[in-house]
Amino acid sequence: MNVLDSPIEYLKGVGPAKGDLLKKELGVFTQRDLLLQYPHRYIDRTQFHRIGELSEHSGEVQIRGILRRLTVAGQGRKKRLVGTFRDPSGALELVWFTGVNWIEKSLTVGMEYIVYGRVGAFGHKLNIAHPEIEPVKTENVKAEASFAPVYPSTEKLNTKGLNAKVRRRMAKQLLDKLAPTDVPENLPAYLIQKFRFPSRLQALRQIHFPKDAEELKAARNRLKFEELFFLQIRLLQIKRRRKDVVKGYVFDQIGDYFNGFYQEKLPFELTGAQKRVVKEIRRDLGLGVQMNRLLQGDVGSGKTMVGLLCMLIALDNGYQTCLMAPTEILAQQHYEGISEYVEGMDIRVEILTGSVKGKARKTILADLAEGHIHILIGTHALLEPKVVFKNLGLAITDEQHRFGVAQRAKLWAKNNPLPPHILVMTATPIPRTLAMTLYGDLDVSVIDELPPGRKEVETTHRTEHHRMRVIGFMREQIAKGRQVYVVYPLIEESETLDLKNLDEGYEALRREFPPPEYQISVVHGRMKAADKDYEMQRFVKRETQIMVATTVIEVGVNVPNASVMVIENTERFGLSQLHQLRGRVGRGAEQSYCILLSSFKLSNEGRERIQTMVRTNNGFEIAEADLKLRGPGNIEGTQQSGILNFRIADLAKDGKILKAAREIAARILDDDPKLERPEHHPIKWYLEKHGKKLKGWSRIS
Ligand code: ADP
Ligand code: MG
Repeated sequence: MNVLDSPIEYLKGVGPAKGDLLKKELGVFTQRDLLLQYPHRYIDRTQFHRIGELSEHSGEVQIRGILRRLTVAGQGRKKRLVGTFRDPSGALELVWFTGVNWIEKSLTVGMEYIVYGRVGAFGHKLNIAHPEIEPVKTENVKAEASFAPVYPSTEKLNTKGLNAKVRRRMAKQLLDKLAPTDVPENLPAYLIQKFRFPSRLQALRQIHFPKDAEELKAARNRLKFEELFFLQIRLLQIKRRRKDVVKGYVFDQIGDYFNGFYQEKLPFELTGAQKRVVKEIRRDLGLGVQMNRLLQGDVGSGKTMVGLLCMLIALDNGYQTCLMAPTEILAQQHYEGISEYVEGMDIRVEILTGSVKGKARKTILADLAEGHIHILIGTHALLEPKVVFKNLGLAITDEQHRFGVAQRAKLWAKNNPLPPHILVMTATPIPRTLAMTLYGDLDVSVIDELPPGRKEVETTHRTEHHRMRVIGFMREQIAKGRQVYVVYPLIEESETLDLKNLDEGYEALRREFPPPEYQISVVHGRMKAADKDYEMQRFVKRETQIMVATTVIEVGVNVPNASVMVIENTERFGLSQLHQLRGRVGRGAEQSYCILLSSFKLSNEGRERIQTMVRTNNGFEIAEADLKLRGPGNIEGTQQSGILNFRIADLAKDGKILKAAREIAARILDDDPKLERPEHHPIKWYLEKHGKKLKGWSRIS
């Protein structure tokens, strides 16, 4: 057995009690787990701060000085150990609340120490609570790496004797006993040479105890590459295997539906990007392999038309299709839009949502099963087992980030014997690095061009002080016949509060825009679907000039005459949400405006978000900025997947490495699909041993 597989408690210096803690607190069960728990940062042992220059904002510091006094203060639970620590520039206090007796015994007043910790303040006095402290001994300083690793930790670990120092010692203990055979190489020799990577064992040594910045960088590069490379190999393997195994219907007919529509009914010329994407999809559908394709495109880039054209291809080949949207409003809009497009074409389009009930529902279900319905549009309601198609050939999901993995998997099961082709359309662009990972097993088409003649939405940032001017501007625009959205944030935890915001906002607006001259629609999540729809329709029909709403209007809604979007409490929205909202205007011929209202005081991140919105209209750019600001784990729709829990790679920063890893992985699988060549044995061996753990994200399969 590999020593790394042995339980963590067997490592010298750990034992059962500490072992349990490591398991509970960090999920470290084996010695391998410990080895792979990389430091999240390092203390630069070469830098010392001067106490006299510290403040409570200094953060974590390293200081060197003499321990001057050591006293036990307080009683019982308040008992603490307080030391005075002094260097030539000043003094501060060191405080311990646990382990008082033991620590007191281990320290000597008058001796010189190196202290490391976070500066805090109590009254006017600076202190460091639970510092790392060790005597200055020359041989000690030399032996330690100049970068001391700091590991992810918890309060419990720190107070139960598994502090930074102990963790460091454990890592050292483990690394010292490892031989190269314990950590076999998992990358082909030619890659290691090409990139001048350290060996795997070397890289692990260096990531824990780097001698200098260069060693650290080399180790990081290799380990990041390794992590991303194996992920890509797995994703590409899944994709390839699916293509080998999952047969799909061959749509090789382009017939009257498609041609008739394309030649006679298409209301505009397709953009170059739309044409290219339709071609890509057409090719896919003819291969006899199930299509799994992600269609990315910015807000307003015309994804719906591409979807419709694909549906027509399915119809030409004798199959039914469906389109699933995340909200009723959106489903309704698709239903109306698509019905209008195909009017007079002998195509039956129906809509199925939660609010279609009774006899109407029965009829739809029966006709669907009989094959009398060609295109079914709807919400999650489409996924119910009772919804049975005669022959579903293509399923499209719109605005995909709202649907979970499991829901898409249900679509697969909607047809027998072969699964339908799947086209997933995103609401807003996803950064490239995320797409490569989250959807690395799907084919991706990108519409990277907007229809001609779009005027960029003019975006401005305003604070409360400007409210009257904003009202004045709204009045001007309404006088020109335009319509205005006013959007309030909705955060689920405090829905009541948000409703209050919206109600108050509505009342205030009514005072500024009184009836009968002005009419205002209100739509929010707590309303019944029918009421929402009624209010939406009033706005669509221009019976109301202002639509006050929560983010339910976020996706898809299309009212070309609405040319002003006012967003309240902008700082509470995420970037992709803001971009979606802004996408609701700028759909007609008129110049459109987006006004971002916020309070005067903003966090740095809030300010960044707003500045990004003002700077650019490009969804791909915004997506990249979002990734940088919030990190991959917080991007909408990625939370549940677990796929983004990297040990060391960072999609916001490691785009280049990821791209290289994907390209190399693809090339290797092209040349040697089964990884049979001797030079690829390291990869094969590693996948066999550890590949299972990489499986959590095989999603639709
Ligand atoms: P999204 O990609 O955000 O779903 P839509 O499909 O709703 O965008 O399209 C946005 C608007 O652009 C619609 O009103 C649609 O009719 C229009 N549109 C789509 N393609 C074109 C085109 N090639 N030329 C002109 N207008 C187009
Ligand atoms: Mg859309």
